[in-house]
Amino acid sequence: MLNIVLFGPPGAGKGTQSQKLIEKYNLTHLSTGDMLRSEIAHQTELGIKAKTLMDAGLLVPDEVVIGMIDNQLVANKDAAGFIFDGFPRTVAQAQALDELLSGHLTSIHLMLALTVTEEELVKRLLIRGQSSGRADDQDEDKIRVRVTEYNTKTAQVASYYAEQGKYKAIEGIGEIESIFNELCAEIEAVK
Ligand code: AMP
Repeated sequence: MLNIVLFGPPGAGKGTQSQKLIEKYNLTHLSTGDMLRSEIAHQTELGIKAKTLMDAGLLVPDEVVIGMIDNQLVANKDAAGFIFDGFPRTVAQAQALDELLSGHLTSIHLMLALTVTEEELVKRLLIRGQSSGRADDQDEDKIRVRVTEYNTKTAQVASYYAEQGKYKAIEGIGEIESIFNELCAEIEAVK
């Protein structure tokens, strides 16, 4: 099995690179943001509660996203591996993920972190907001709240994996294809 955490702030290119990686390595894509947006679209109780926080650019509670990941690991028992996109976003989530994966007799092999400056992120997200329809991409203040959530709660997750020797940073600015090639080179090194 090959399990990868694709890490980075909102707008770093995680979604784009995930799509390319799942195709190349036959991995199952687990994006908590996509799962939450699907809950909202289906107007579930969970979705209705999460929407207020998401629209404000704030993180939803750990137990909500951990529960969704738990369900997906069970539902995809035969997967060749997973790409975790937008998860874990807190150290508590990272610890819970380790426990869940060990229950499935596997673990995280690599965290690939896309690094992008804040100004570039804001620029990209405002452009994405013109077509994504995402409320959290529409306004600069909300985008900055998301970047602050990332800096205060999520950035520490990188240290969690660095301590385990699993962290690799890749510059997320440049051609999509050349960033993809760098990500693949890191994956080949652990395969
Ligand atoms: P994303 O699509 O990954 O940018 O996520 C969009 C929003 O969903 C985030 O701003 C959070 O409000 C929420 N969200 C997604 N994943 C998580 C997570 N792992 N922990 C907490 N909140 C999350």
